[in-house]
Amino acid sequence: MTKWVYTFGQGEAEGGSDLKNLLGGKGGNLAEMARLGLPVPPGFTITTEVCTYFYNNGKQFPVDLAEAVESALGFISGVTGRTYGDAQSPLLVSARSGARASMPGMMDTVLNLGLNDITVEALAENSGDARFAYDSYRRFIQMYANVVLGIEHHIFETILEYYKQNKGIALDTELTEGGWRAIVAEFKARFEKIQGRPFPQDPREQLWGAIGAVFESWMNPRAVAYRWLHDIPAAYGTAVTIQAMVFGNMGETSATGVAFTRNPSTGAKELYGEFLLNAQGEDVVAGLRTPQNITEAARIAGRSQDPSMESLLPDAYAELTSVMAHLEAHYRDMQDVEFTVERGKLWMLQSRSGKRTSKAALRIAVEMTNEGLIGKPEAIASIDPLSLEQLLHPALDPRAARQIVATGLPASPGAASGEIVFCASDAEQLKSAGRKVILVRIETSPEDILGMHAAEGILTTRGGMTSHAAVVARGMGKPCVSGAGTIRVNYAKETMTAAGVTFRKGDMLTIDGATGQVLKGAVEMHQPELSGEFTILMEWADAVRRMGVRANADTPRDARVARKFGAEGIGLCRTEHMFFEGERIVMVREMILAEDEAGRRAALAKLLPIQRADFTELFEIMAGLPVTIRLLDPPLHEFLPRSRDEIAAVAEAMSVSPEKLTQRAAELQEYNPMLGFRGCRLAIVFPEIAEMQARAIFEGAVAVKRKTGVAARVEIMTPLVIGKEEFDRIKAQVEKVALAVAAEATETIDYSFGTMIETPRACLRAGELAQTAEFFSFGTNDLTQTCLALSRDDAGSFLGEYVAKGILPANPFATIDQEGVGEFIEIAVARGRQSRPEIKIGICGEHAGDPASIAFFQDVGLSYVSCSPFRVPIARLAAAQAALAAKAAT
Ligand code: ADP
Ligand code: MG
Ligand code: MG
Repeated sequence: MTKWVYTFGQGEAEGGSDLKNLLGGKGGNLAEMARLGLPVPPGFTITTEVCTYFYNNGKQFPVDLAEAVESALGFISGVTGRTYGDAQSPLLVSARSGARASMPGMMDTVLNLGLNDITVEALAENSGDARFAYDSYRRFIQMYANVVLGIEHHIFETILEYYKQNKGIALDTELTEGGWRAIVAEFKARFEKIQGRPFPQDPREQLWGAIGAVFESWMNPRAVAYRWLHDIPAAYGTAVTIQAMVFGNMGETSATGVAFTRNPSTGAKELYGEFLLNAQGEDVVAGLRTPQNITEAARIAGRSQDPSMESLLPDAYAELTSVMAHLEAHYRDMQDVEFTVERGKLWMLQSRSGKRTSKAALRIAVEMTNEGLIGKPEAIASIDPLSLEQLLHPALDPRAARQIVATGLPASPGAASGEIVFCASDAEQLKSAGRKVILVRIETSPEDILGMHAAEGILTTRGGMTSHAAVVARGMGKPCVSGAGTIRVNYAKETMTAAGVTFRKGDMLTIDGATGQVLKGAVEMHQPELSGEFTILMEWADAVRRMGVRANADTPRDARVARKFGAEGIGLCRTEHMFFEGERIVMVREMILAEDEAGRRAALAKLLPIQRADFTELFEIMAGLPVTIRLLDPPLHEFLPRSRDEIAAVAEAMSVSPEKLTQRAAELQEYNPMLGFRGCRLAIVFPEIAEMQARAIFEGAVAVKRKTGVAARVEIMTPLVIGKEEFDRIKAQVEKVALAVAAEATETIDYSFGTMIETPRACLRAGELAQTAEFFSFGTNDLTQTCLALSRDDAGSFLGEYVAKGILPANPFATIDQEGVGEFIEIAVARGRQSRPEIKIGICGEHAGDPASIAFFQDVGLSYVSCSPFRVPIARLAAAQAALAAKAAT
């Protein structure tokens, strides 16, 4: 026979927190607290298996459940001396929801079950307080009617408001016994009018009605949406806990409250919480009355006139502090508790791990470790790596006024303000005039890349978290809000309309990539300050991780950020990003549009000193740490001039006619640029481009060594190879340049030459590639595109469906597709290591900043991950967690 019901109370329990899956978080922890001898009203929990049964059997309960519930009610009677439904000494209970994962406020609770016209009199008699009894009864009618029968709260609230108005009463606490009796009569009459039958008087009907309603609340739209957002499976189900009532509404020595063992926003070790005298249940959070501080210290700090619990109820306060200390020590984590004081006696009603800001999480983890409460591995595991993002980017000042005009997806974190522009070329122009802009597009495409680069932030009205805009912005470390669907953009008029406000080009706008908010005007911001605890926790993480963490950095600015965040090198420097800046783009365009090698070489000669200076600066910043430079990768027409003005400028520089230039540009267009003339194919066909880049790199290395005495650690790699033949040719070109520069400079030049692995063929040919390639770096963005034949820029329209339908477990551009792409990676690692056992293998795609993917990369034996600079701390922490998890598994 299945055990459906688990009791707890009086220092004992049939389960505990270990049975969380069966009893839910709330039920499990109540049982645990009872076991610890803490003051918990007795009760029992109906398991999540009953929930599963309920939904699998047309909302019927198992036949033997009723008997188990009766016997458990008997257990409560044994402890309390009261009996459910009894006319003399009635037991009242609550029916509470609780799943294994915390879903605060998403499901329902019914308090004061067992009250009817007879038991209410007994409650009045036994407590000597008829006012309290009728206050409880009116609460019960309203809550039951709402939760079990779906009657709106406001119907009852209006009756109460009307009554108070007539009597000239402001606060509920001023109502007398007579007042509550009158309200109860009106509530019942109203109930009967709506339902066509009197309010249920049978306590058993009430109880089962409430149990059914709590199970039903598992499927209410709020709960379903919450689960969807937090990846909680519907199959978990909720448990239902039935618990003897204790009353915070029994007069001025009774109270109800919530408290944290540490401050959840700063992490400071201080009791933090609020309470209300003569109140019940959710009154504290409902906001009808202003709650009071629990401690004197908080009252003084908040300059509150209302007395604290510490001064009003000193005994209950003293017990609360000791119980909370006990709970924190027991669970070894910051706790969030609910409690009630009934006539001076403290009762605990809930304890769970408290939610906290990431700043608080770091402080708590470090301080708990220093207190000896937890060990470093637990401290490391306690921080969600992604939550660090909140700390790393500039954020809107929380005190600043905000006028939100739309909300989209928080696609790339950080906040930015600037003038609105609607096209990429305007963004570039204003940027070069020293202005700050927000690029607003319906959606972006590779043609917008220069404008995105120039903008402070990007806003799109279409597209999801892996749209082109989102991916590129994250790669650039720029704030982005995508898919803000309520905004209407009119490119022709250069306006956008949001929340009834029309914005023109040049108007100020702020976007908050952390929340997806779009705000009018320029909102105040503050730069992140990294706390001492951040540094300490990162050091602990670094001590346990096995994989190296590098950054993808293209500019000196990126490189400095990367070092500040602890990057151990640059794993990907995209040289084309250096081409975007200022007047360089004109030279790049000359180079691309040249009709022959001589023309190209002339343009490349102009670019050489600029690239050399870039590399010199980058090497200097990185001071001997490895710098992996990728030779030119993107399809050339990404750089082409588009507007009239742009074409005219290049035509003039090249002394050719604009018509001729336009024609040449048209020749370069491709049907499928992602699979077109790009990657190492450029170096094969135009070796002079790779030669110029190699020369710039080597001369930069010589220069920095002469200047600083520290040799650069240069790693050059070639993108998009399909096999050894191709790779070896480019390697030979680069080697020739290295020898030439070494001879000219009379210096030795040390570098290693490797390849990106981003095609399935390269994975399969990795054994041969490793014979000459000195390192591999997986470009998992392209590898995902090429393995799945899925264009990242075009997948937005159907990928969501694939994930929703469970065809793919997650968006493969966000979390590595382990079964497909992952197997190619494993093959490449195995074959590569067979030829060259010590080969260094890294990954530099977007996945390098994704904690789930990082765990996979560690398990397949990669040497390092390289992610965007702002993701470096996240990757350091995730790599440490992966190392700890792997250690725990063996
Ligand atoms: P939620 O998950 O929404 O917090 P709870 O089940 O915790 O719902 O209950 C809501 C409120 O009712 C809480 O403030 C809780 O402390 C209070 N409450 C629940 N059961 C009892 C009880 N047996 N006696 C007194 N108060 C209770
Ligand atoms: Mg609660
Ligand atoms: Mg690539």
